[in-house]
Amino acid sequence: MQTPEKPLDILVVAAHPDDAEISVGGTIIRSVREGLQVGVLDLTTGEPTPYGTLERRAAETRAANEILGIAWRHNLGLPNRSLEANLEARRRVAEAFRITRPRLILTHYWDDLHPDHVAASQLTEAARFWAKLSRSDMAGAPFFPPMVLYYWSIHRRKHTDPRFVIDVSEVMEEKLKAIECYRSQVIDGRPDRFPTVLDDIRAIARYWGWTIGAAYGEPFAARDQLAIDGLGRVLSPSSP
Ligand SMILES: [Zn+2]
Repeated sequence: MQTPEKPLDILVVAAHPDDAEISVGGTIIRSVREGLQVGVLDLTTGEPTPYGTLERRAAETRAANEILGIAWRHNLGLPNRSLEANLEARRRVAEAFRITRPRLILTHYWDDLHPDHVAASQLTEAARFWAKLSRSDMAGAPFFPPMVLYYWSIHRRKHTDPRFVIDVSEVMEEKLKAIECYRSQVIDGRPDRFPTVLDDIRAIARYWGWTIGAAYGEPFAARDQLAIDGLGRVLSPSSP
C-alpha cells in the first residue's frame, strides 16, 4: 500500500468500487476542489458481477478517479459478497488508517441491505480503535482517526434521518459522470427507460438538496458529537 504524499484530510471507506461515487461522489469532488486531500479505500474488487470482470472494474475505477481528482486510492482485495468484520480484515483496514492518517473517515451507514456494507461499517469502527494501538506489529505508526461520518447507499429504500446534508449542487453533473464510468454496474443489463439507476441517484440527491434549500445534497449520519466552528457558516434552507 502506497503512503500518500501528505496525510489525507478525508478517507472514504467503501465495500465495493462505485459505492464511494454513488454515495458521496459530490462531497469528494467538492472537497478536492476546496483543496482537501481525499482518498478512497475500496475493501473488495466487487467481483463477480453479471457484466464485470476484474480488469473491467479496475479500468472503470481508474476512469472515475480522473473525474474525482483524488490523491490516493487502494483496493484491499478482501472477499466480495462475503466480507466479514473479522480480525484479519480489521488489521488490514487499521493499517490503511495508520498509513493514510485521515482527519475524517466516511463510511457506510450501519444499517444496510447489503451484508458487505454492514461489515464495512463495522470494520471501519473497529479498525479506527485498533489503528491507535501501540506495541503492535501493524504497519504504520499509531493513529486515531478523529471523526467518522456515515453515508447511505441506495439498497435500503427508506427515508433516512441524517445529522446534516452537504450541498453538492455545483458538482452534481461530475458526480454522475464518475458513476457512469461504472458501466458494468449501473448501465449494462439494466432497463434504459425512466427511471434508470442514474435517474434514481439524481432524484435522491435532489430530494436532499431540497431539504437544505439547494439543488442537490448528500446526507450524513454521525455517532460522535459534532462541533461547529462558530455559527457564521451554518446555512439554513430558503424560507417556505
Ligand atoms: Zn456496495
